[in-house]
Amino acid sequence: MARGMTPRQPAKTGRHEGARVQRQALLKPVSKGRGGQTRASVATRAPKQKAAGKGYDPLAPARVTDILGRLDKAYPDVTCALHHTSAWELVVATILSAQCTDVRVNMVTPILFKKYPTVQDFARLKPEQLEPDIRTTGFFRNKAKSVVGAAKKVVEDFGGQVPDEMDQLLTLPGVARKTANVVLGTWFKKNVGVVVDTHVTRISNRLELSSGTDARKIEQDLMKVIPQAKWTLFSHQIIWHGRKICIARKPKCVECPLENICHAGDKTWSTVEVHTRARV
Ligand code: SF4
Repeated sequence: MARGMTPRQPAKTGRHEGARVQRQALLKPVSKGRGGQTRASVATRAPKQKAAGKGYDPLAPARVTDILGRLDKAYPDVTCALHHTSAWELVVATILSAQCTDVRVNMVTPILFKKYPTVQDFARLKPEQLEPDIRTTGFFRNKAKSVVGAAKKVVEDFGGQVPDEMDQLLTLPGVARKTANVVLGTWFKKNVGVVVDTHVTRISNRLELSSGTDARKIEQDLMKVIPQAKWTLFSHQIIWHGRKICIARKPKCVECPLENICHAGDKTWSTVEVHTRARV
């Protein structure tokens, strides 16, 4: 190099040739998926993507078994994150968990159950008396009505014992299938259905196990492909997966144990073809 000449430095703006080539390599287009999905760019460090293959069936038993095996490995001992020591406490905690984090519910319930130790204590309350104790969980007026109403029903119609049958549980105010499935699966160890919450809804769509948005439809779809013995465990595993990795806004696909069998339309990183419809 001639004396006095300094080597050319890359522009700070990143507009030099090298940067452009590098950026283009990182913005790899997503290949065309089933159902005529359009091409889209994934603004991530994209590796080579494998096509899903001819005759790809997201519900194929081998694929579902693979998903379940990977979940078992990643989340072997997961259970319900809501703290409880009885079926009644679990009913209350699950009602309070609507539109609220489990962490928040777990902060509220120890004080609540110390103040009102039995279902009979709750049944004697007026909803207004309960409201201040559960205010921080949100929607506290409706939740107070549901909890007190459920307590009265359990005391008056079920001898103070939370019933262990789906149709009876559904007669309790504030208890829909999701709550009933949590109580039946977690406390009574009965696999009567699959718990469908926001995480299960999102991830079932991403994994193409259901294309529904309605909880009942998603539950029916999942019950067709997941073995009954796994219904409760699967729900808990997916809920944990949704909290830790497959989060709503920016799923951590690069860390995900399901990555190379997931074709979700909103993946942030993919080694496989992406199906743009595979999302909620
Ligand atoms: S690869 Fe991504 S989108 Fe698919 S399940 Fe894992 S975190 Fe979710």
